[in-house]
Amino acid sequence: MGIHFELQQVSPRTVAVVDEQLASNAGALVLDDYIVAVDATMRPDTARTFRALLEETYRRPVKYLCVTHYHGDHVLGLKAFKDVTLFASAPLVANMQSRMKSDWTPEALAAWKVEDPAAAEWLDEVELIIPPLLLHNRLDIVNREKVIEFHQAGGHTSCSTFGYYPDERILFAGDLIFAGQLPYAGDVTCDPERWITTLKTWLTWDIAKVIPGHGPITDQGEIQKQLEFFEALKSATRETLAARKEPQDIIMPTLYTVDKEGHWLVERAQKHWYEYYRNYETENSSTAGRTTPN
Ligand SMILES: [Zn+2]
Repeated sequence: MGIHFELQQVSPRTVAVVDEQLASNAGALVLDDYIVAVDATMRPDTARTFRALLEETYRRPVKYLCVTHYHGDHVLGLKAFKDVTLFASAPLVANMQSRMKSDWTPEALAAWKVEDPAAAEWLDEVELIIPPLLLHNRLDIVNREKVIEFHQAGGHTSCSTFGYYPDERILFAGDLIFAGQLPYAGDVTCDPERWITTLKTWLTWDIAKVIPGHGPITDQGEIQKQLEFFEALKSATRETLAARKEPQDIIMPTLYTVDKEGHWLVERAQKHWYEYYRNYETENSSTAGRTTPN
């Protein structure tokens, strides 16, 4: 019964759970007096197992948990960490509230259970929890001179936040990195330019290993690859706009393979990037118009 998975050591003080059955990854930093977790996995039962693995292995409590962003595969398991100080970036509140009025109403969740019998096993247990502690730009947690930084980056979603532990050069990327797979870039709050800026910034940082939101533990090579993908997607989107074609005409860069089941990810990204860069060009040209006489 349930899903079996184990902690994977990433560096002396950091661990992660990476398993396809979990739907998303989670990570943690083991400090001297307590543990800081990053995400909780998708389901309450797997989140409970993740917490038990951490606290039994290291014999100290999880004191803080960073919710990297508002997507269901990162927040629906939070009940298992209800008594822990949960934190996220400020825009997560409005993002979660809008989901609670749409995809996460009791009626919508009931429909989900009918559609997906596997989800029926755990959806009843879900408690939608909005983290009470909100960060603006940045939050550092310090324990006996060990420091972990959390930065609000935006990009994948407007509330996307990542963690960085400089002593061991570990990046807790959340869904700002999808390792070896097409990054989901179609959220309504996705900001391609901010995402690209964050990836460029990371390339200048000292990063030995990356714990991604999805896919295996990786490194700077994956950041570089994902940046190339986004730059190519941006060019393809602008060419499509210039040719006055439609979103579905955007030619997707071939750096990641997509199967049939993943095609909706492509469609959403095409639509979102098309709208985003259409507005972006309009804004830029209207700015230029103001400075150019007639
Ligand atoms: Zn996500």
